[in-house]
Amino acid sequence: MSLSQRTIKQLSSARDDEIEDLVDSREDLNDEAAAGESVAALPEWALRGRQIEVHVRSNKYTSTPVVAAREAIAGYDKILGGGSKKLHMNLAREILGGDSWNSNSEWASLLDATKKPKMRQWEWKLVRSVRDTVLLRKMKNDKTTSWAWYDQWGFGFTRGFLRSSLTRPDLREGVRWLIAIRTHWFPTVERRWKAIKATGKEPRFSKDCCPLCKAVVTPGWEWAHLMIQCTYRPVEKARKVHLRQVIRGIRDELADVREIEVELAGIRGVNDGTPIGGAVAICLAGGTVGREFGLSFTNGYGQGELLSVKARSYGFVYAASFLTEVAVWYARGVDLPAYIRLDEEVRALRLQDF
Ligand SMILES: [Zn+2]
Repeated sequence: MSLSQRTIKQLSSARDDEIEDLVDSREDLNDEAAAGESVAALPEWALRGRQIEVHVRSNKYTSTPVVAAREAIAGYDKILGGGSKKLHMNLAREILGGDSWNSNSEWASLLDATKKPKMRQWEWKLVRSVRDTVLLRKMKNDKTTSWAWYDQWGFGFTRGFLRSSLTRPDLREGVRWLIAIRTHWFPTVERRWKAIKATGKEPRFSKDCCPLCKAVVTPGWEWAHLMIQCTYRPVEKARKVHLRQVIRGIRDELADVREIEVELAGIRGVNDGTPIGGAVAICLAGGTVGREFGLSFTNGYGQGELLSVKARSYGFVYAASFLTEVAVWYARGVDLPAYIRLDEEVRALRLQDF
């Protein structure tokens, strides 16, 4: 078992213990709550996501290999004895081995150190309780399909990828589309078709087909079709460059997850009769299927310091790189106004230039 596999396994089991601890703490809160008032359970993605947030915020992530590599880049090769190439190669994996998770001490480090430990403990419970209440209230009151979608696939588990994405401004277009997928905002063919019809014009694409490869697509799953199935040549090429390697890894990891059948059965145009394609697409967007939070790809999506076992970078980097190229073609295919205007502006610019 490799270092990263071992680390992920350790962290997964650590998180399970901590979740049990949190559930116990919630029962304490129940006892303390007003008579007859019970505290509802948070979804698992929120519990696990919270552990990651605390872990990330309370750690500085300095590591010997990183510091050494920076020194090598800055010209300290002689002091290091010329080992910089090897350092670079080992950089990512070494980072994984450096930390251990301890939820209590990590929380404590975020709180006011001038107070006595018992007071800090109380403060910790209070802060957690307020955050839980805010989330639970949102979950109860928000009846939008976007929220139901976000909750169903547990996208909240990987939401910290946004923090990492700040280091990749070159992928901002793709990250924007990724957020659109996760919040159920990705433009559907049908909605675009109706919007164009309503203006009295005739759409240049069919109501239920991919505007690029012309295959029938399931409404709401157009993005998944692009990632997994679309046969438009440039899309296939982008998939080969950006996604092929991780798709293979995710498929292997999902092979044992039985609940996929239940959650994704019957989604036409994505899965070719089997739900695995849709499940892979959900994972590529940073979601979870079948309550499976132990996937290496999901844990290495960019919300923490972990990398997935076989990937060279965070999971979101693969998806955002693909979408940076492909989503724009799709947006133009369904005549999305912002992208059409962009086209016209670019053309106008060229005319002026000459
Ligand atoms: Zn297509």
